[in-house]
Amino acid sequence: MIVRYQTSQGTDIFGMAVPNIRTDTEWDLGPTWCYLVPGQKTTLIDTGRFGNYDVLKTLLESVGKELTDIDRIIITHSHEDHDGNLPEILSASQAELWAHPVYRPMIAYHPQIEDNALHPELPGSCRLCPLTEKVYRNCLSYHQKRSTLSVDYDITDNHAMPEDNLRFLFTPGHSPDAVCIILEDEALFTGDTILPDITPHPSLAYSFEVNRQILPEEYRQENKIYGLKAYIASLNKITRLESQPFAATFPGHRLFYNGQFNIIHSSYDRAREIIQFHIDRCRDILKVMGNRPIEEEAIARQYFPPSQLTGSGVFMAIEEVRTHTEFMEECGDIIRSGDKGQIVQHTGSNEFLPALEAYLH
Ligand SMILES: [Zn+2]
Repeated sequence: MIVRYQTSQGTDIFGMAVPNIRTDTEWDLGPTWCYLVPGQKTTLIDTGRFGNYDVLKTLLESVGKELTDIDRIIITHSHEDHDGNLPEILSASQAELWAHPVYRPMIAYHPQIEDNALHPELPGSCRLCPLTEKVYRNCLSYHQKRSTLSVDYDITDNHAMPEDNLRFLFTPGHSPDAVCIILEDEALFTGDTILPDITPHPSLAYSFEVNRQILPEEYRQENKIYGLKAYIASLNKITRLESQPFAATFPGHRLFYNGQFNIIHSSYDRAREIIQFHIDRCRDILKVMGNRPIEEEAIARQYFPPSQLTGSGVFMAIEEVRTHTEFMEECGDIIRSGDKGQIVQHTGSNEFLPALEAYLH
């Protein structure tokens, strides 16, 4: 499926749905939407889930473009449903690769670093991957090919390129290297930072402790790129842009899903809705906890429906609980115990509430 949008300056945007089918879990995001913006320099934003090179090539052909027409590829973040097919597309197109500087250590291997990584043998983006063996095996060749790539252009926060009518925002949280792209002050490409219909999974703040040694120097001192707090700060950053609300918002998933469009009419409102969603989720998790010590897995099993707890869904559910308990722990609302820090208990305070609500003011 292809969706075409024309900006008020006459620039075309082609949204192309690349299949994103995972058999290991019920957590279905729907296809990954990759965006082609033809122009002086033709830009492709994201390359879809790995194994779909031919699909993307055919989609491009159906709008009259060849891979060789692409001058630059911008990657919104280092997840396999967004930068799969990248090595193949880069070599066929000879395009430049643009990404945030944190993308580099995410795609590289760091075997020399000894820390608490669950999978020190995997690249930076997946050193804490809790997923099942099968998923892990399926990703190996993608990881290997991706690790050989070099980034041609560093995207930094608030960087503007007036000659191309582009502006970039660094929006870490879902992924430590996430960026959003603004075209002509009219269209906002959000990757997974803002999605319609569903809320993206924030990363774990714990990943910072494990990964800090692999990060570029300026990101090692204090965690500003992992966890719920980083994610909410990024949403807040988007709401504060002076060109808000954008006329058009293009998400990485769910633009069209299950026979219907999910148009984000206001990225400002949607970002605030997602912040509110996480406030409510913190509250819900506290409710499930009561005032006894409880394992995060037990919270996940009570909180999520059984259909979401099959296969690797259970790990994702536990991580979703943990990203919230981490934030509440930082606020002093929760204490943690157990050999893996898996037991949490409510201290009785609710400091998370003013801390998160501040992002809505
Ligand atoms: Zn995604």
